[in-house]
Amino acid sequence: VRFAASHPGAFMEVIKTVYRQGTAAADSIAIRADQKSYSYKQLISSAWEISNLLCNSGLGTVDDVGGHKHLGGARIGIVAKPSAEFVAGILATWFSGGVAVPLALSYPETELLHVMNDSEISMVLSTEDHQELMQNVAGKCAAQFSLIPSVDRISSQESVCDHSQIEEIASDKGDNPALIIYTSGTTGKPKGAVHTHKSITAQACIQIVRGVWQRWGESYPTKGSKADDAITVFTGVPTIYTRLIQGYEAMDPDQQAASASAARQLRLMMCGSSALPLPVMQQWETITGHRLLERYGMTEFVMAISNPLRGVRKAGTVGKPFPRVQVKIAEEQNENDATGVGELCVRSPSMFKEYWKLPQVTKDSFTDDGFFRTGDAVKIDEDGYYVILGRTSADIMKVGGYKLSALEVESALLEHPAVAECCVLGLPDEAYGDAVCAVIVPDEATKRKQVESSKPAISLEELCEWAKDKLAPYKLPTRLFLWDSLPRNAMGKVNKKELKKVLAAEQ
Ligand code: ATP
Ligand code: MG
Repeated sequence: VRFAASHPGAFMEVIKTVYRQGTAAADSIAIRADQKSYSYKQLISSAWEISNLLCNSGLGTVDDVGGHKHLGGARIGIVAKPSAEFVAGILATWFSGGVAVPLALSYPETELLHVMNDSEISMVLSTEDHQELMQNVAGKCAAQFSLIPSVDRISSQESVCDHSQIEEIASDKGDNPALIIYTSGTTGKPKGAVHTHKSITAQACIQIVRGVWQRWGESYPTKGSKADDAITVFTGVPTIYTRLIQGYEAMDPDQQAASASAARQLRLMMCGSSALPLPVMQQWETITGHRLLERYGMTEFVMAISNPLRGVRKAGTVGKPFPRVQVKIAEEQNENDATGVGELCVRSPSMFKEYWKLPQVTKDSFTDDGFFRTGDAVKIDEDGYYVILGRTSADIMKVGGYKLSALEVESALLEHPAVAECCVLGLPDEAYGDAVCAVIVPDEATKRKQVESSKPAISLEELCEWAKDKLAPYKLPTRLFLWDSLPRNAMGKVNKKELKKVLAAEQ
C-alpha cells in the first residue's frame, strides 16, 4: 500500500487493507520518519504493546462479549512530534477502545490544562522528549502518565499482536468517537470537535480521490533514493509566511540567496487556517517562486475547499469544494436583493459528530437539512472560485448601510510599505453602525523612526490618502491604533471580539 498522507485517521483504513491482504503487505513500509523506515508490522506490534499497557493500567474494563479488556471511550492525550510514535500512540488508543486527544505543544500551559480538563483525559502518552513537561501537567489534572516507547526497537521479524482482536476492533468502529480535536480558540475557549472513525477515514478519502494528496503519492520518493528523507511539501498559516518574509528581509544577500534556493527545492507550499493577504502571497512568490496553494477548512470537517495542485491558483480565493463535499450559501432573510454573499454551510462525510459536552452548541450549528453552519461569510467569483469574506461575527461590518469585509481592508493596508501587520475591525458608532478601525504594527524601520522622532510614524490621514485609490470611501479606516504586536493565539489568529473590548475601553 503506497500512502503519502500523514493523517493518522487514515491508518485505520490502511491497516484493515493490510490485514485483508495478508502478511506480505504487513512487511511493506508504513512510515518513513527521522531517516528510518517502519513496516506496518512494526507499527502495529508497537501499538499493540502500548494498547496492552493502557488496558492494564487500571483504566480498562472487561468486555462482556469477547472477554477483552477495553477502555470504553476513555480519553487518552497524545504528545509527540509527527513520527512513528505519534501514529503508534493513536493506534494503541483505538486498539483499546479509547478516544485519542492530540495535544499541541504550541499551546501555553493554561490552554493545555483547559483541553486536558475539558476532555477529562485519563492518561497522557508522550514520547521521552516531552516526558518532564507532560508528567508535570498530567499531575495537575490527575491523569496518569505513560511513555510511548520507540517503535524502532521492534524488529520487523517480530509480531506480537493478536491479529484476530485487531481485526475485530478495526472492522467495527464506524460511528464511535475516535479523536477529539480542539478548535483554535479564536472566538472563545477552544471547543472539542469529536470525530469518528468514519469521519476521519472520509476526510482522508476526500483528499485522496482528487485532492493534492493523490499526486503526493504519485511521486513519493522511491526506496533507496537520496530524496528519501527530503521534505517536499510544506504547509503553514499566513503568519508563518509573514514571519519568514520578515526574516528573509533581515538577511544579507548571500543568506537570502541560500534561503530562497532551499525553499525552491520544495515541491509544494500550502496555506490555510486564516486569510492569506495578497501582498504576502505575492512577496512569497517573488522570493521563492512558489505560488502558495490556499485552502479552507475547519477543525469540525477538516478540509472542504481548495485551490488545485495543477490549474489556476487564484489569489484571494480558496478554490472550489472537494468532491463529495456539498456547500450552500445561506443569505440573510431580510436582504432586499440577492447579494450572493452569505454564510457558508457545509455537508460532508468528514463532518464531526458533535462538540464535546456542548449539546446545545452542536444542535445550533446544524441546519434542519443537515448542513453545518460555518459562521464564515463567502461569495463565489465569476470563475466559480470561493472567496472567504471572514467571520460573520467579527469580520463583516455594516458602515452606513454598506456591508464590508475586514479582510479586504486588511489586505489593502498591508500593501503600505510601513505596515508589517494589520487587524481591522468594527467599533460601535452611533452615526454609521460600525466605525472601521485599524490596528497596525509598523515594520521595524518605521518603529525605530517612531522612537527617534517620538511621534507616530503613520497618521490616519496619511494612511487614508494613500489607500483612497484602493478602497471605496466607506471602507477607509476612521480610527487608527499603532501597536508593537498583535495578540495572536497559537494558530496565529487574532480574537477580534476580545480586541474590540480592549479598544472600546481605550477610546
Ligand atoms: P474557534 O472555533 O475556537 O473560535 P477557529 O474557528 O479559529 O477557532 P479552526 O477550526 O482552527 O478554529 O479554524 C477554522 C476557521 O479558520 C474558519 O471558520 C475560518 O474562519 C478560518 N479559515 C480557515 N481557512 C481559511 C482561509 N483559507 N481563509 C480565511 N479564513 C480561513
Ligand atoms: Mg471555529
